[in-house]
Amino acid sequence: MNLATTSPPAADIELLRDVMRRYWGYENFRPLQLEAMLATMSAQDSLVVLPTGGGKSLCYQVPAMCLDGTAIIVSPLISLMKDQVDAARACGIPAAFLNSTQLAPERRDVMSDLRMGNIKLLYVAPERLTADGLLPELQGIPLSFFAIDEAHCVSQWGHDFRPHYRELYQLKELFSGVGIHAFTATATEHVRNDVIQQLRLEQPRVLVGNFDRPNLTYRADRKTDVIGQIQEVIDRHPNESGIVYAITRKEVERIAQYLNASGRTARPYHAGLSDEERQENQEAFIEDRVTTIVATVAFGMGIDKPDVRYVIHAGMPQSVEHYQQESGRAGRDGLEAECCLFYNAGDMASWRRILSDQPPDVLKHSLHSLDRIAQYCEGVSCRHRMLVQHFGQTLDADCGHACDFCLDEKEMVSDPLVTSQKILSSVFRQEQRFGADYTALVLKGSKDKRIIENGHDRLSTYGLLSTEEKGTILDWVGQLVQQGFLRKVGEYNVLQITAEGGAVLKGDVTPRLMAPRKVASSVGMTSSTRTRGSSSNKGEPTSWEGVDGPLFEVLKKLRTSKAVELNLPPYIVFGDAALRDMARRRPTTLQNFRLVNGVGKKKLDDFGDEFTEVIRAYCEQHQVTTDVEIGPTTDDPPRPAVPRESGGSPRPASTALANFPLFEQGLSVAEVAEKKGLKESTVWGHLRSYVDFANITDPTPWVLPEVAARVEEAILEVGAERLKPIFIKLNDDVPESEWVRYDAISIVLTCWNNRQS
Ligand code: ADP
Ligand code: ZN
Repeated sequence: MNLATTSPPAADIELLRDVMRRYWGYENFRPLQLEAMLATMSAQDSLVVLPTGGGKSLCYQVPAMCLDGTAIIVSPLISLMKDQVDAARACGIPAAFLNSTQLAPERRDVMSDLRMGNIKLLYVAPERLTADGLLPELQGIPLSFFAIDEAHCVSQWGHDFRPHYRELYQLKELFSGVGIHAFTATATEHVRNDVIQQLRLEQPRVLVGNFDRPNLTYRADRKTDVIGQIQEVIDRHPNESGIVYAITRKEVERIAQYLNASGRTARPYHAGLSDEERQENQEAFIEDRVTTIVATVAFGMGIDKPDVRYVIHAGMPQSVEHYQQESGRAGRDGLEAECCLFYNAGDMASWRRILSDQPPDVLKHSLHSLDRIAQYCEGVSCRHRMLVQHFGQTLDADCGHACDFCLDEKEMVSDPLVTSQKILSSVFRQEQRFGADYTALVLKGSKDKRIIENGHDRLSTYGLLSTEEKGTILDWVGQLVQQGFLRKVGEYNVLQITAEGGAVLKGDVTPRLMAPRKVASSVGMTSSTRTRGSSSNKGEPTSWEGVDGPLFEVLKKLRTSKAVELNLPPYIVFGDAALRDMARRRPTTLQNFRLVNGVGKKKLDDFGDEFTEVIRAYCEQHQVTTDVEIGPTTDDPPRPAVPRESGGSPRPASTALANFPLFEQGLSVAEVAEKKGLKESTVWGHLRSYVDFANITDPTPWVLPEVAARVEEAILEVGAERLKPIFIKLNDDVPESEWVRYDAISIVLTCWNNRQS
C-alpha cells in the first residue's frame, strides 16, 4: 500500500529514486539515467546509448527492483557476470546468473529460485539463453523485461560481433508484451540501426547520451622515450590502478618488465599467456594486489573496475572508437582520471600489417579509421571537442581544463603562418605528387636518392626547415592535415593543398602548430594533479574536496581486508567515490554513515559498525573533526520554508501558480494531475510550492494523519534540515510497500517549518 500518493508505483519517478537510494545509496541520477529507467519501466522497447561509465547497469537494475517479476539481463561477458551478481547482492538485490561455468546442480538451484520468484535480476549468456530449452522455460515465468547489455555485439558492424547475439531476435516472437531494452556504449548510427533491426525492436525509444567524459583528462604526445613517458604518468598516480595498452605482445612484455624492474607493480595480459596466467593477472589487478596491468586490446571487455585512474596507450589505437572504448575504462566511477596516448608513425605501419588480411571492403574501412585516430593524435584543439565531434556531437565550449591544450601544456610555435607556408609551398612545388615523409625530407634538405633524382634539391623550399627534426616536420604536416589545410589522397597518401590551404599561402588564415617536443617530457604535471583535477568541477560532486587523504588511505586498507574476507573485489565492497565521501564526512554514527553517497541499507548493515569505528579511532588519534555536515546536493528537492522575514518565498513558477486555486478548493494531487493532464510527481512539486507560499501549517489535507505523525516524529529525532535523513529514518527498516514517499515527507516538513517561523 502506498500511504501517501495514489500514483501507480511502477510509473513513479519517486519510486525509482527511492529504490536507488535504498539499495545503492546514490543521491543523484547521472545524465539520461532517469529517462532510461522510465523507458525500461514501460513496456515500450528502448535502445540506450551511454558512454562507458555512464551508469548503464543501474538503468535496468533499478527498474527491475521496481517491477514485478524477473528481469533477464543478456550479457556476453561471462567473466563479468559473477562480479555483476556479487555487486548486486552486496547491495541487497536478489540476483543470479546462468552460464557455462556452472555445474548442473548449481544451475538447477538457480532455476528453482527463479520458478519460486526469488530472483529479480537473472544474468544469462546469449548462448545459454538460446540453448537447452531455457526460452520455453522462461515463458512460464513472470518476467519484467529483457535487458540486452553490450547490444552492439548483435551487429557485425560493431567492433565485437557475437554470432549468438543474432539468435536474440526470437525474444520478440516468444515474449510478446515483454519489453526489450538494449544498452550499448557504441555510438555510430549504423550500428544503432542494425541493433534495432536485429533485435526486432518495436518503435523503440532511442536515448543517446552525451559522449563527452568530463572527468577524464586527455593528453597525446609523440613517443620519444615511451617507457619514461609511461613512468611519468604512473608516478602521478601512486597506489592507484591503471591500464597500459600496447599494440603487440612483445611490447606488453617489455613494458611490464621495465615497470617491475623500476619498483612499480605491473602484470602483463595478452593472448600469448595461458588462460590461467591471464586469469591470475587480471584478478591481481581487480583485487588491487598490483596497480598496473599492461595489456594488448584483448584486455578490458571482461573487467568492470570502476576506479581505474589512468589509461595509457603506448601506441596508437586502431580507431577513435577503440580509443573511446579503451580510454573510457578510466574513471567509470565518475571521479577524475587521466588518459594519455603516445604514438608515432611506426604504430600506423604496425596496424596496417596486422589488419592487412582483412577482406578488401573491411580493410578500407579500417584504414580510414586509422587515419581518423591519427588526426586525433596530431590534432591541435581541445581533445574533448575532437572526440565528441567524431561521434557527431558538439560541445558548447572547450573543456577548459581537462586536456593538454586547454591546460596550456603544449607549447605552440611562435610563427605558425611562416612555417605553414614553407610546408605548403613545398607541397605545391613538388606538384602535389608526394607524401608527408618525402615532403619532410625535402624541407629538411636530405640527400635522399629520390630527391636528388627528382631534382627536388633545387627547389626553393629545399632545406628551408633544415634546423628542425624530421619528426617535427612530420608532426606539422599532420597538424595541417587535421586542420584541413592539406589532405592525403590515394593509396600513397599524396599530399594536396585544399582551398583553405590556399588561403594560408595567401596569408589570410593562420594554422595552429605545436612547438617541437623537448627531450624532457612536456606533459609534466606533478602529483598535485589530484587537487587540480578535483577543483576543476570535473567528475561527480565527490572528488577530493574536503577529503582527509590519510583517512582515505586507511579506509582503502580496511576495504581491502573486508574484500579478502568476503572473497569479493574491493570495489564491490565500496567504490572510491564512497570512500572519499566517508573520508570527507567522517561519520562516527550509523545514522551519519548512511548519508554517505554509495551506502545503501545493506552496506550500512554489513559494514557500518566497522567503518565508523575505524573512522572514530582515526579522527580521535589525529584530532580531526568528525560527522561533518555536507549541504544538500543539487538534486535534492527544493528545501522548504524560505525565511519570510527576508522578503518571503520566491515567486512560484506560473505553471505551479495556476494550480493554487485547485489546491485551495481542496482537490487532491491525483485530481489536479488528472484535470491538468500533468504527472503526479509534477503536481506534488506544485503543491510543495503552494504550501510554502501560502504558509500552510497543516499537511493532513494531502497526507494521511498517521503518516504526518510518523514524519513529525522522525523530524524530532533527526532534525528538519534535510529530507534524506528523514526518509532513511522512516523507510530503511520497513518493506517498500510501506515506505513514506519523498513527496509526502516534503509536504509535512514544509508545514513543520512554517509552524516554526
Ligand atoms: P557502464 O555500464 O555504463 O559503463 P556502470 O553501470 O558500470 O557503467 O557504472 C559505472 C559506475 O558508476 C559504477 O561503479 C556504478 O555503481 C556507478 N554509478 C552508476 N550510477 C550512479 C549514480 N547515479 N550515482 C553514483 N554512482 C553511480
Ligand atoms: Zn580541452
